[in-house]
Amino acid sequence: MSIQWFPGHMAKAKREAKEKMKLIDVVIELVDARIPLSSRNPVIDEITQGKPRMIILNKSDLADPNMNKVWRKHFEDKGHVVIEVDAQKGKGIKGIPPAVKEQASAMIEKMIRKGMKPRAVRALILGIPNVGKSTLINRLANKKIAKIGDRPGVTKSQQWIKVGKEMELLDTPGILWPKFDDEAVGFRLALTGAIKEEIFDFQETAVFFLKYVKEAYPEILKDRYNLTEVPDDIVELFDEIGKKRGCLVSGGLVDYDRTAELVFRDFRSGKLGRLTLEQP
Ligand code: GDP
Repeated sequence: MSIQWFPGHMAKAKREAKEKMKLIDVVIELVDARIPLSSRNPVIDEITQGKPRMIILNKSDLADPNMNKVWRKHFEDKGHVVIEVDAQKGKGIKGIPPAVKEQASAMIEKMIRKGMKPRAVRALILGIPNVGKSTLINRLANKKIAKIGDRPGVTKSQQWIKVGKEMELLDTPGILWPKFDDEAVGFRLALTGAIKEEIFDFQETAVFFLKYVKEAYPEILKDRYNLTEVPDDIVELFDEIGKKRGCLVSGGLVDYDRTAELVFRDFRSGKLGRLTLEQP
């Protein structure tokens, strides 16, 4: 479920995330593998305050496998530990606890040096709405943890979930807002379900999507909509898709609203195949 973010909500979410930082050793930052930059929070560095952090490319099953590799390298080159995950099916999950432990190795060594018995490493999942935080928590917990509203400010007492012997996970994720300043980012968030359908325009969003896909994945458009060539002109492309799929109004003209919605639904449902909507 997506929410509307206002300055007050953002300030509160930030404050709550910062509070949680005091409790944990490692941050697990969740991003959508289809939009790894657009699904990041703009002030994540400030919020995580230098805590060891890893990046999970979630929904990697929906993203272009080649681009998953490109994005992984992009973040690794910046010094991050990166894991590709499909939280829905549980793929990639096993790699998380050892990576979390590795991230906390300095802390563990320090405890040993002081003669203390190392405790389980405490982690927090952090990310924007709909990126798969609850799904991942349930996977790691191996059971269904009740989902609290995707609203900052809905608090309950914190509980730790044991994940194996050496890791503990905070049972409520940190919910952060996405970027809003860039129109392209807004379209990507709309396409992937991070913002409510009521607040964006299907036609505009579909135009943005088709412009990108006709350059990056022309074969996908040809296959799905049975096109011999992908027209360069976006209106022509709408016309072709609308005609092929019977999105017409009386007189045989193409219904652009319905065509836009069809394209949008085809992407969301995965019928177009695995696509990544941005490049490093
Ligand atoms: P949250 O708002 O971040 O807690 O997101 P949720 O865990 O509620 O997930 C949002 C939607 O994405 C749900 O419909 C999930 O089933 C779906 N989802 C989560 N992770 C994955 C994934 O890795 N792959 C796919 N295909 N869907 C996922």
